Amino acid sequence: MAVAGNTPTASFLTKIGKMPSAGCRLCKIAREARGESTDGLADETHGHINSAGCEGMATTVMAAHHSIWRHQYDSMHAAQKPKSKLKFVTLDKESNMSTLWRREDFLRICSKEELAKKAQDIEVTIPVKNGQETWYNLDPGSFPVNRSWGRRPDGVAINEALKIVYILEFKRSIDRDEGFLEVKAAEAHEQHKSIIGALKAAAPEWEFEQINFVGSVVESDFYTKLKKLDVQEGKKDKLFADHVTQVCEAHNRVIASFLQQVQGGTRPTTEGSRENIGHNVHV
Ligand SMILES: [Zn+2]
Repeated sequence: MAVAGNTPTASFLTKIGKMPSAGCRLCKIAREARGESTDGLADETHGHINSAGCEGMATTVMAAHHSIWRHQYDSMHAAQKPKSKLKFVTLDKESNMSTLWRREDFLRICSKEELAKKAQDIEVTIPVKNGQETWYNLDPGSFPVNRSWGRRPDGVAINEALKIVYILEFKRSIDRDEGFLEVKAAEAHEQHKSIIGALKAAAPEWEFEQINFVGSVVESDFYTKLKKLDVQEGKKDKLFADHVTQVCEAHNRVIASFLQQVQGGTRPTTEGSRENIGHNVHV
């Protein structure tokens, strides 16, 4: 696996005196192409280029996220104990809280109306974020409830016999940039607050728990989480090994895409960055 700190990001190159500015080159190219100002570019850190916030990397990063998670989710599902009553909800692109509450098993937890009422109470306390303004302005009154129905857990498993619902979240953890991790944690927390909070209020006799999978090879409680999801004891090692492979391969694809873009896409500038991004970069 690549050692994160060695990626020749502008941030890294600036630190070692090989580049004058840490601003993201890929975001800069995207903004220049639109004729926009390149003031206030995000720093080109390892965290930034691994996030959907980077204009040059968003597509690759999202694809990496989906491929790792899809593989893991399907593997956990396939490795369940045969007698488990825990049902993994099959996810597709359209799965969100609204589509879950069209299913009979979820409607047995609580009604749509009851859940909407509780979600509304929580959503109004969560600020309208960048990128949500247009949506909000269309209909400020129904925005909170619409936002709650649009929330999209990465995975959901339901055990009707035990009255437990697990909301699964997956994050690729790639980062040494603490600020970035805080943003990720805040997103997970907001999602948790809205979905779990509303569910607990609407169906107090049920148990709702969020399980966060962080796509990292050092995740120590991976096995504990698999156990909760009724994954067979004997299949855990294989599942973990596969997961690690997936994470590494996805990471390599992300870094390769980044290198290809900075090496191929950097225009001649006063920074002369092109020569500084070595051609013998190992990832
Ligand atoms: Zn960027």
